[in-house]
Amino acid sequence: MAQDVVDVIVIGAGHNALVTAFYLAKAGRKPLVLERRAVAGGAATSEEFAPGYRAATLAHTLGPIRPSIARDMQLEKRGVRFVRPDPRLIAPGGDGRAIVFSTDPSRTADAIRPFSSKDAAKYPEFCATIGRVGGFLSGLLEMIPPSIDAPSAGELWELLKTGRRFRALGKRESFALLRWGPMAVADLVAEWFETDLLQAAIAARAIHGTAMGPWSAGTGAVLLLAAAIDPAPGGASVTAAGGPGAVTRAMADAAREAGAEIRTGSAVTRILVKDGAAAGVILADGTEIAAATVISGADPRHTFLGLVDPIELDPGFVTRIRNYRCPGTVAKINVALRGLPAFRGVTGDAAVALQGRVHIGPGIDYLERAFDASKYGEISAAPYLDVAFPSIHDPSMAPAGRHVMSVHMQYAPYARRGGWDGQSSALAAIALQTLETHAPGIGALVEHTQVFTPKDLERTFGLTGGHIHHGELALDQLFTMRPTLGWADYSTPIRGLYLCGSGTHPGNGLTGMSGANAARKVLKT
Ligand SMILES: Cc1cc2nc3c(=O)[nH]c(=O)nc-3n(C[C@H](O)[C@H](O)[C@H](O)COP(=O)(O)OP(=O)(O)OC[C@H]3O[C@@H](n4cnc5c(N)ncnc54)[C@H](O)[C@@H]3O)c2cc1C
Repeated sequence: MAQDVVDVIVIGAGHNALVTAFYLAKAGRKPLVLERRAVAGGAATSEEFAPGYRAATLAHTLGPIRPSIARDMQLEKRGVRFVRPDPRLIAPGGDGRAIVFSTDPSRTADAIRPFSSKDAAKYPEFCATIGRVGGFLSGLLEMIPPSIDAPSAGELWELLKTGRRFRALGKRESFALLRWGPMAVADLVAEWFETDLLQAAIAARAIHGTAMGPWSAGTGAVLLLAAAIDPAPGGASVTAAGGPGAVTRAMADAAREAGAEIRTGSAVTRILVKDGAAAGVILADGTEIAAATVISGADPRHTFLGLVDPIELDPGFVTRIRNYRCPGTVAKINVALRGLPAFRGVTGDAAVALQGRVHIGPGIDYLERAFDASKYGEISAAPYLDVAFPSIHDPSMAPAGRHVMSVHMQYAPYARRGGWDGQSSALAAIALQTLETHAPGIGALVEHTQVFTPKDLERTFGLTGGHIHHGELALDQLFTMRPTLGWADYSTPIRGLYLCGSGTHPGNGLTGMSGANAARKVLKT
């Protein structure tokens, strides 16, 4: 017997679910958001991990959040201070030199010149090309992927408009777009540049959070998807003072103010289905809540294989969801530091130089070898690292004069041979040893570490397979195929059940777009 009846249930309080709840509430619906953890924000939270130290617990940069969403939710008025660091990325080469990526392409070209004058000359053209191609794709991000079998009149109209915009790209860029998608990103960057370090720093976005290396086919598409969200090669490193958690806190406030209710500590264990339609949920404590609309911000595999009784789903659909790949390869390490480290080749005030991200992965072969290990179930001995220092933008995240370092470590395969129990210290040691070669003396600055293995990402944050994007960003799992062909428009085979998380188009980081698109779909239906 249901104890409670509500209008709409949203499962999970990740940033996408908060965006969905906000838009629904704005439109007059009454969403109830149910989050299993004690805190809202999903993989974008800022939490204390050692006395006096607060980390950007998992994500350390933003997608960035789509400007229209930030505006609608009035995030800045709610106290979010977005930071667009300059320099935005530093790539140490291991030979005592580093490439410093500024927001200004011509200054970045100056930094590239000592490595190759040819590359320096080509860099501004690369930025312009990727900017135009990314600009075209950016339009697709806000689109509800159309039905392939039977597109509606509205969908055909949208496709026609997209076709016109594609033609307007011109021959060179439209050809580039068609060619680059299926390519290996290693080949793509090699067509432009000869400097290995530059190639690797640009290619890294195409493998970030994936189970692919730079020589994997289709990594070109991931680079294009990243460029659609933010065209700066290597990423603009946009973040918020206080880390992405500051953004999700403001998002939760916006959703509540619009009329949504958010209940934390409320794990959904079952989505109720009656006569092929969503009927509500059951919580871990046995509470039943009835609702005719249920929207899941959890990943597709957890939603369909963990929460829905398989008897309610067509076996063919279940097989497709089983085949939806979520092979996590990322570990997250938060480090409390006595002070900022000095990276070789990086000059000037460290608090200025390290505002953005630090890319550790000095060459294409280095990145590929790091990936190779994971194919055989092993942790990379020389991993690719993406590092940030969130306390530079918000000194209150650490005691006076101290700092927090956020390390995204790849590759640490979820399917590690021998499992993950007792592996945390080994992971931290590999990451710190790797950093020591680029920032000698960093080890002596360490006061405390917090480690999340891919298993921890699944156990603690509900990410199936420990996959940071709720499923692989691969050509066969993007756009009309995310999460699966025929069900990419946020609806599901169960009437009244929708998806709104990162396992739907466009996914890929903290942008809020999956959540906004899903809200539009629900409101249209
Ligand atoms: C280690 C790591 C580093 C990352 N780094 C970056 C980065 O620097 N920049 C970037 O843009 N992106 C980054 N990402 C990706 C980004 O965090 C995700 O794309 C984003 O958080 C996805 O948001 P979401 O709302 O779709 O889902 P999530 O943030 O995963 O939220 C889903 C929520 O649903 C809840 N939930 C799941 N199942 C249930 C249930 N049964 N009942 C109730 N609640 C449930 C979970 O607890 C969670 O709160 C990173 C992710 C990870 C894991």
